[in-house]
Amino acid sequence: MREYLAMRKVRVYPKSIRSYKGLISDELYSELIELAKPLKGARILHINSTSNGGGVAEILRSEVPLLHDLGLDVSWQVIEAGKEFFDITKGMHNALQGNGKIVLNSESRKLYERVNAYNAHLLKAKKEQWDFVFFHDPQPLAIPHFYDGKDFNAIWRCHIHVSPNNKAVWDYLKRFLDEYDAGIFSLKEFIPGDLPIKKRFVIPPAIDPLTPKNKKMDELRARKIVEKLGVDTRRPLVTQVSRFDLWKDPLGVIKAYIITKKRIPELQLALVGSAASDDPEGMAIYRQLKDYVKTEKDIKILKDLTEEQVNAFQTISQIILQKSIKEGFGLTVSEAMFKETPVIGGNVGGIRLQIVDGKNGCLVDSPMECAKRMAMILEDTHLRLKMGRAGKQIVSKYFLTPRLIRDELMLMSKFPAKKENIAKINVLF
Ligand code: UDP
Repeated sequence: MREYLAMRKVRVYPKSIRSYKGLISDELYSELIELAKPLKGARILHINSTSNGGGVAEILRSEVPLLHDLGLDVSWQVIEAGKEFFDITKGMHNALQGNGKIVLNSESRKLYERVNAYNAHLLKAKKEQWDFVFFHDPQPLAIPHFYDGKDFNAIWRCHIHVSPNNKAVWDYLKRFLDEYDAGIFSLKEFIPGDLPIKKRFVIPPAIDPLTPKNKKMDELRARKIVEKLGVDTRRPLVTQVSRFDLWKDPLGVIKAYIITKKRIPELQLALVGSAASDDPEGMAIYRQLKDYVKTEKDIKILKDLTEEQVNAFQTISQIILQKSIKEGFGLTVSEAMFKETPVIGGNVGGIRLQIVDGKNGCLVDSPMECAKRMAMILEDTHLRLKMGRAGKQIVSKYFLTPRLIRDELMLMSKFPAKKENIAKINVLF
């Protein structure tokens, strides 16, 4: 069993909160400094199941060093396991997002519990102490249940678009949530009515404006990068950037594109994707998509691009699509809007939080509607630029990492019982 059970520390590059000064309001900056003061030295651990690929890793890569810069003692650990485990947890993810057909047999439950129990043991064996441990999504969710003598505040950070269609899987997971002190959801409507956690917080994720993916990129450079990947930048381009996942509706995107192409024959489509290590479905979906579009020379399916390449696509595409059927938040929406590129998104979950229909993009319920909106924006440059500017304003105000950090500091400051610990550590510093 040992060969596929481990917990690995993720190293992150240092970041300074001061570099965000010109990008956020003075008020938010001061709030961060003030909120961090009483939490100085607080020991915080984030646990998730991948350091690369997908939104959670993206968020932690910025949040962890910034909290550190604010004086908190933060680290990030990733649980490692074999494909069988991640098949089970992707099934849980799919069940929580509304797939009612998924059943967890006793073998699956046993393996899920064994991996979580072993990770609880590994955590305990570290002989470290924490004030707050954040467990992200279903993969490490049961660790507190198996942690003997829990002495930290356990926070469940749910990034999923929770839909109540699979009671059996939810009831199974619910029993492990009894041990939690707080739960965080991206939207109020995702909080299950029977959640056994009393302290509930709604905190939407955010993007880091200073990463290679989100930093302002010169348009000429962006064009060169995209051309190198086989796209003709003199012709219009629409792009979706997403893990290869059916919830992101890649087939709906292709359908919408094919309809629009009849009206705008020079149109090109790029599906830029990746497969996170904790998402075993990704590669199979990638291969199916490649096969599906092999005769369509204007559709590019691109895998594992660098942050700069993703930035280039988000910068020079006329429209970014995020046609998800379910979406916890959808960082890709804010990423594109921050670059003044309008987004057409599925009318679901966290996408609805970011797009005000008709103002900074469009919300759609079907490939046909998506196609109509694509044509409308592509044929009206004035509208496209106006939506782009509105998008950047919204992201700058609500969806940049410092706001996320402010909200999490506020959450932690609501746990006075732990202050004693924090003060003690403070003296050591
Ligand atoms: N992403 C990427 N390359 C890809 C596909 C996705 O870097 O080929 C990034 C994307 O830019 C975003 C994150 O992965 O930062 C996906 O987060 P999101 O919230 O949109 O979706 P999730 O994968 O968490 O469901």
